[in-house]
Amino acid sequence: MSSLRFKAVEEAFRKKAICVEAPGKLTSEYYGKYVFSRKAMSKYLAKDTMEAIQNAVDNGVALHRDIADHVAAGMKRWAMEMGATHYTHWFQPLTDGTAEKHDSFIDYEGAPGGNVIEDFSGKLLAQQEPDASSFPSGGIRSTFEARGYTAWDPSSPAFVLDDTLCIPTIFISYTGESLDLKAPLLKALNAVDKAATSVCQYFNPEVKKVYSYLGWEQEYFLVDEGLYATRPDLALTGRTLLGHESAKNQQLEDHYFGAVPSRVAAYMKDLEFEAYKYAIPLKTRHNEVAPNQFELAPIFGEANLSNDQNLLIMSLMKKVARRHGFRLLLHEKPFAGVNGSGKHNNWSLGTDTGVGLLTPGKTPEENLQFITFLVNTLMAVYKHNALLKASIMTANNAHRLGANEAPPAIVSAFLGSQITAVLNKLENSSSDEAIVMDAKKRLSLGIPHIPEVLLDNTDRNRTSPFAFTGNRFEFRAVGSSANCSSALIALNSAVAAQLVEFKIAVDALIASGKTKEKAIFEVLKEYIKISKPIRFDGNGYSDEWKVEAAKRGLDCETSVPEIYKAYTKPETVAMFAKNGVLSEKELHARNEVKWETYTKKIQIEARVLGDLCMNHIIPVVTKYQSLLLDNVAKIYAIYSPEQAAQLAGMNKSLIEEIAARLTNIKNNVDAMIEERKRCNKIEHEYDKAKAYHDLVFPYFDKIRYDVDKLELIVDNEMWTLPKYRELLFIR
Ligand code: ADP
Ligand code: MG
Repeated sequence: MSSLRFKAVEEAFRKKAICVEAPGKLTSEYYGKYVFSRKAMSKYLAKDTMEAIQNAVDNGVALHRDIADHVAAGMKRWAMEMGATHYTHWFQPLTDGTAEKHDSFIDYEGAPGGNVIEDFSGKLLAQQEPDASSFPSGGIRSTFEARGYTAWDPSSPAFVLDDTLCIPTIFISYTGESLDLKAPLLKALNAVDKAATSVCQYFNPEVKKVYSYLGWEQEYFLVDEGLYATRPDLALTGRTLLGHESAKNQQLEDHYFGAVPSRVAAYMKDLEFEAYKYAIPLKTRHNEVAPNQFELAPIFGEANLSNDQNLLIMSLMKKVARRHGFRLLLHEKPFAGVNGSGKHNNWSLGTDTGVGLLTPGKTPEENLQFITFLVNTLMAVYKHNALLKASIMTANNAHRLGANEAPPAIVSAFLGSQITAVLNKLENSSSDEAIVMDAKKRLSLGIPHIPEVLLDNTDRNRTSPFAFTGNRFEFRAVGSSANCSSALIALNSAVAAQLVEFKIAVDALIASGKTKEKAIFEVLKEYIKISKPIRFDGNGYSDEWKVEAAKRGLDCETSVPEIYKAYTKPETVAMFAKNGVLSEKELHARNEVKWETYTKKIQIEARVLGDLCMNHIIPVVTKYQSLLLDNVAKIYAIYSPEQAAQLAGMNKSLIEEIAARLTNIKNNVDAMIEERKRCNKIEHEYDKAKAYHDLVFPYFDKIRYDVDKLELIVDNEMWTLPKYRELLFIR
């Protein structure tokens, strides 16, 4: 009997929600308590230091190194009052997630061996040199020349986590190449700010800055930690490599928006309290479609800060889950047969004058600006649809894309009927017409005491990977464990490049004597025609769409290693170079890292799968088969051959099925190991990743098929791995 599994199930059943208490009566009392916010700064920094920082953040004015000393002194005082004894540069290497190396504040006052004091200088705040050799760089920095620097990003405030002052930083090589996801994001945000601001000035010369906004929706699974501990695949790869679907999973659609289970509700509350201490403005929480799947989302904010908050919340989520006896799964597809997890990136642009550039306006003038940004976004997404797909593609996310529940592995844009009608009209109009958007429709319900309902001017389509949702685009293909920067770098850079081109085209027409409005109309009309293939409002999951998308010339590649090549196509290289976001050298280096990561993920999964088969599945199934053989032998010992043949018939056929499946499993595992050995000898990262994709990965499904069938016939008491019904329904 598999005692570990049953013990875990029993314990999980007995767990009760733990009681969590709010840190204050009102959220605003403790909101941002652990963040060195402007409010905190104003208490700990001199007025001119404060102004210099604000000027740096708001207007991009470089901070003088002297200022860093003043900031460091104030920041240290604040952090120590918050209980910090250490500090770290908190950065975002290409592996996803964040990295940190903690240093204590202590130092000798004079000569070594003298008095110990707490010290933290501007130099330590502004710059650090972690041993960069152990972070992936795609060969930009060979190990003998391991210098890499982290440099302070004052636009994302420092915070205290446990006993450590965390300082958000970028990570670059000695020769200036980015080794992280933050540096190119900041460059992309700067590029889109410049390009969008100059386009905005057609409409309002007052606009001095355009912000890129991000509102992420984080999906996740929770699994009881005892059950998790008995699933080596979950613990080592973040997903189940084996496991038959539960008889009931999400088919009744009874989990989505259902009542949150009590242990989970306690978790969510606890997490929110933590998040608020870090000024992460969490707004919504609810169940998601799959059993044990949930979602949370904040109020959107400036993209760089909002992304840092997402990275921070992912680590808070993990930590708080442990307090509640759960393990957090951020993998894009932890369970086959039920929905995977994404992280929709709600994206928009807005001016420093408070205007949302993707928000339909009230006047034709405002609407011309709205349509300008909408159509340029469509153009950018059309031209760079392959790149956008590459920006969200990983070994994990590949399980989610293209399956019947997530965006397909083809990037298209959904607009909804009203915006589509406006674009169609514009495209066919001969002169510049006033753009009129229908105001919200009113729906009277005919129930006297319920007020009328206002209907939005966009419909919804859950199958679109890039959907317009009223005042923003929702990039849905982003994976749940991803650093949003990857998607945001591609999207903001592509839009920036597009806006620059637009400005040049419009200016040329104005120079030739056209009015500003006429010039804008003319260019937009042409763009509407060119970008048409990217617009698709139908069912993104359908097979017809795949055929149609290929006809339209959209990128339909499904192999992950191949998809990454979009990063080094000449048009991509030119686009990133023009923006100054990433150089060709950096793009190539990053692809090396992506291929290597892909290979390693598949390699680890293949090993875990092989191990599970050899030391869980085959031994257990063989034991069960022996029981059946015993039973058959005893029947034959007691009964006449004719009677025995009849009585032992069922068990004999089970024995044969088991034998056949065990043979399949063993043969496939052996063949997979052989294939892996061959792949490991391949030198170049792309070739290796491709070989792992084409030759090793296909064994996963073959092996799983027989194992999952065996799970259904082997004695439940003997099965060692917790089953889907236990992982997904115990909470
Ligand atoms: P839904 O599930 O309907 O898409 P949610 O409320 O779960 O909506 O999430 C929507 C996210 O989009 C939130 O983070 C919200 O703050 C964000 N959002 C709303 N308006 C904008 C905008 N103009 N730009 C960027 N993000 C936005
Ligand atoms: Mg959404």
